[in-house]
Amino acid sequence: MGLHDAAQVAKLVSSGRLPGLAHGMGRSYGDACLNPGGQLWLTAGLDRFIAFDEATGRLTCEAGVLLRDIQQLAMPRGWALPVMPGTQQVTVGGAIANDVHGKNHHHSGCFGDHVLRIRLVRTDGSTLECGPGLQPGWWAATVGGLGLTGVIVEAEIQLRRAASAWLDTETVPFSGMQEFLQLSDGSETAWEHAVAWIDCLSGPLVRGLFMRANTAGPQARREPAPRALTVPFVPPVPLANRLSLRPFNALYFHRGRMKAGRTVIHGAAFHHPLDALHGWNRLYGPTGFFQYQSVVPRDAGRAATEAMLAEIARAGEGSCLAVLKTFGARAPCGMLSFVRPGVTLALDFPNRGARTLALFERLDAIVADAGGRLYAAKDARMPRALFEAGYPRLDEFVAFRDPGISSGLSRRLLGS
Ligand SMILES: Cc1cc2nc3c(=O)[nH]c(=O)nc-3n(C[C@H](O)[C@H](O)[C@H](O)COP(=O)(O)OP(=O)(O)OC[C@H]3O[C@@H](n4cnc5c(N)ncnc54)[C@H](O)[C@@H]3O)c2cc1C
Repeated sequence: MGLHDAAQVAKLVSSGRLPGLAHGMGRSYGDACLNPGGQLWLTAGLDRFIAFDEATGRLTCEAGVLLRDIQQLAMPRGWALPVMPGTQQVTVGGAIANDVHGKNHHHSGCFGDHVLRIRLVRTDGSTLECGPGLQPGWWAATVGGLGLTGVIVEAEIQLRRAASAWLDTETVPFSGMQEFLQLSDGSETAWEHAVAWIDCLSGPLVRGLFMRANTAGPQARREPAPRALTVPFVPPVPLANRLSLRPFNALYFHRGRMKAGRTVIHGAAFHHPLDALHGWNRLYGPTGFFQYQSVVPRDAGRAATEAMLAEIARAGEGSCLAVLKTFGARAPCGMLSFVRPGVTLALDFPNRGARTLALFERLDAIVADAGGRLYAAKDARMPRALFEAGYPRLDEFVAFRDPGISSGLSRRLLGS
């Protein structure tokens, strides 16, 4: 069911007999945005800008507005979203409900840290406003609340000043977790953005390319963002497979090493490389793929990451999309926000059925032993015990759930 007008949402969401769920752009990798057997309330029609104060950078908009559209409105006026996930094809409601993070957590925190107020509609027809300092329980439950506390219809966001859409970047090849952690620590104060691509088959040796960036000045180049390509069909077998992975990773690493150093690139190429390849998910073929994203506390980060990468290399699984980064000390505002200080590893895995799931069980054990957690936005299979252990504020959260809302994920991990 499509939602088109914030004023009508209360009527629509309170009239359903089946439990419903808000659905933004469906960019979550698993069942957080799905509701098999129930209703989906499509929020893409809630796409209006309501107010923008160019002097203060305060933007009010409906919850189906895309982050891409906010950037297009704000950047020519010298403003930008302070936190951008790896794709711009995400709604404001989805970004709040997963309290998404970018490559600048150490600098700017999570998306929710920049939201000043939201309007939430419940399936009993009531509407409430919350924000930092305004109905703090509802606020903390809804930011990162996986859409389970109500439908966000409107948000007010504080943008940040941005001199240009371009970034001054530096790429540094590294080898080993110790070198990665030194680079991360050494980049915290002087660099806004930091992230590493790693060769997931390099095992505990962990070779990769560390990339850091700062917003370039207004004198930076002004060419348009790179043009997008499209994967036109689903190949019968995954193109990202065991045979292609090893040579691709070796080539990517050595090419990156040759081109290491400083350069100026468009922010979209740095933050959202996959947005330039429409339908990239088709490369995984008809059986699709999983993403597995964990975060483990900093003191366990080195050993746990090495152990996970050893398991992945032994299994010969994984893909060229493997990302390693650290989260900073800033605690997120949501009860179920994923981010915590520590080391996060995110990898795509082509779905090879039982073999892939068996590998995840071994990775789960490492994450659990390290006191870590998995990202619900990227999950389609985590065991309930791992979810409960990883999210200690779960009991507190449950009191704020909307009984008329349910998702595949909530039934799997919360029992309803
Ligand atoms: C290529 C790619 C890169 C990514 N990189 C990152 C990254 O770097 N960091 C990161 O944190 N995430 C990342 N993600 C995940 C993505 O940012 C999140 O899953 C985001 O929440 C998706 O937003 P959406 O609008 O598609 O929402 P959906 O996926 O449709 O929904 C996500 C959740 O939000 C809820 N929701 C949506 N709209 C509303 C609303 N109006 N009111 C209440 N609840 C609502 C849904 O019920 C669901 O629980 C990435 C995803 C992709 C595909």
